[in-house]
Amino acid sequence: MILGVHESIAGGLAKAFERAVEDTASSIQIFTKNARGWSAKPLDPGEAAAFREAAARTGIPVIAHATYLVNLGTGEPQLREKSLAGLADELARCEALGIPWLVLHPGSNADLDRGIELIAEGLDEAIGRSGARKSGVLLETTAGQGTSIGWRFEHLARILERSKASGRIAVCLDTCHLYAAGYDLASPEGYAETMRLLDETLGLALVKAVHLNDCKKPLGSRVDRHEEIGEGLMGLQGFVPLLADPRLEQALGILETPEPKRYRENLDKLRALLPSRPPRPRRPARR
Ligand SMILES: [Zn+2]
Ligand SMILES: [Zn+2]
Repeated sequence: MILGVHESIAGGLAKAFERAVEDTASSIQIFTKNARGWSAKPLDPGEAAAFREAAARTGIPVIAHATYLVNLGTGEPQLREKSLAGLADELARCEALGIPWLVLHPGSNADLDRGIELIAEGLDEAIGRSGARKSGVLLETTAGQGTSIGWRFEHLARILERSKASGRIAVCLDTCHLYAAGYDLASPEGYAETMRLLDETLGLALVKAVHLNDCKKPLGSRVDRHEEIGEGLMGLQGFVPLLADPRLEQALGILETPEPKRYRENLDKLRALLPSRPPRPRRPARR
């Protein structure tokens, strides 16, 4: 797994790379605008160019996280329109910045079936409106708080089946959310079972990123509270099977732990769990 962190963009988007280097991160997640507001000034071309230059110079892969206000599951017309426009704008920003994936919480609706329909249609609509040709959406697994959708792999599979934008939608796991939703990642048997279910419903190849967070609340509590690595109920050993899994070697592993000043320490703890593998034998070039 390519271990990194969620970095602040305070002072300009390209600043995220300076922070990443200080934190020893090998990958980054950012917000492309204020995460708690709808409005944002248009992306400044100079700022976008500086961002792309820093990405090329450092070679650090980047994903973005959408604002928390977007709810594609809602049946309320005004919030739905804001959500569609907001998501389309964020996808266009990702495209302009060369960011391949935008992580999105699928949405919420007390009626699960209706919510799933609305989310699938909303994804197609927002991707179409954005004009983006390359950037797509990573649907994040949720903790299942309140009426939020996406806390069972089946929810995401049903959204993907209904959407017409296949190829532009993949998956982001969150260890804290999975654990709170009742998937016991922290034991070797529970991990194996979780991955079996994931592979059956969605396919492991769809997992492009994993949010690495310990969990303050118990297994199956359906309460989303992130904790520092090794200080929550998953515990440091709870991350061993995930980090040792060769099927997730190419995924970005992103910390979203409470204190950014502890990112470096958390990355050190997780790196110590990565198995050291012998270099892969080179395949002969195909003719
Ligand atoms: Zn998230
Ligand atoms: Zn997350």
